[in-house]
Amino acid sequence: MINRRKFLQATAFTGFGSVLAKKVMASGAVNLKDYPVVISTWDAGLRANKAAWEILSKGGRALDAVEKGVMVTESEQNCCVGLGANPDRDGFVTLDACIMDEFANCGSVAFLERIKHPISVARRVMEKTPHVMLVGEGAQQFAVTEGFPLEKQELSPSAQKSYENWLKKSEYKPPAINVESKQNKDHGPFAPNKLENGEWNHDTIGMVALDANGNLSGSCTTSGAGFKMRGRLGDSPIIGAGLFVDNEVGACTATGQGEDVIRVAGSHTVVELMRQGFLPEIACKKAIERIIKVKGEKAKDIQVAFLAISKSGEVGAYAIHKGFSYAIKTKDKEELIPSNYIMR
Ligand code: ASP
Repeated sequence: MINRRKFLQATAFTGFGSVLAKKVMASGAVNLKDYPVVISTWDAGLRANKAAWEILSKGGRALDAVEKGVMVTESEQNCCVGLGANPDRDGFVTLDACIMDEFANCGSVAFLERIKHPISVARRVMEKTPHVMLVGEGAQQFAVTEGFPLEKQELSPSAQKSYENWLKKSEYKPPAINVESKQNKDHGPFAPNKLENGEWNHDTIGMVALDANGNLSGSCTTSGAGFKMRGRLGDSPIIGAGLFVDNEVGACTATGQGEDVIRVAGSHTVVELMRQGFLPEIACKKAIERIIKVKGEKAKDIQVAFLAISKSGEVGAYAIHKGFSYAIKTKDKEELIPSNYIMR
């Protein structure tokens, strides 16, 4: 007798597999047959997608699009991406980023200081070294050797203010990604959540794209959780956790509490679920359910979201809590879509 798993595997590569997958697609998912398409996390993704689209719409490579796209966010004033972001608890901004292309080439930097575009350094690691990941001082040295300017060691005015606020209590807790849905009009209609003190503490940008040649790539860049322990890395620079691309199947990126994304090899898990025949939204939901199972009661205190695209251009997302949104851009679509979520 054929069990359900074998049935899904057996049908995944046939026309019937995709019919089956469509049947299990939940509401809120976007099903696109036309590509190129680019999707990215949070409302900053709207601006990042525009830059990616410049490349995709001219028939350019998804890899170039996902690099140029997130560079926009790295240059913006953002709580949680680029040199303007919140520092660690010792007052230093440390950046993490990774990138992956259609050939399973990948590059990553972590605990990188004073470099404006960690995503481009991650790409150089991928293209110019025999390694996948460089961290800390070594990553910085490599960046400088590659011609990236060493920026000043100083906090942006808004990060300085946030840090001063945080210093009043200097209370170190493990990165707490608040899940209260206090939305801020200035930050967009589907804003990420705020901490009790009114500060943003997560807003990583993850981007995945399918280009006109049908190839996938992805990027992810962050300063990580605000006021983290010095040296702490989350999921964002880790291939398979914050990002994973398999050009035969699909691509996924993650945002939220990195520790819990790592625990389930989140983005890789989502892509493997897509390989079994699940549409992106369902694959994301199943990975979120896995985190909730692992965390038990504590899942109510954390936010994690996955955002995925299939090889044929279907996209979908799922989060633990309300409040996550993703930006999408295709030839006739440019919008911010609220993600479905588990905890009501
Ligand atoms: N995933 C990031 C981290 O844990 C944080 C975020 O997405 O906001 O470093």
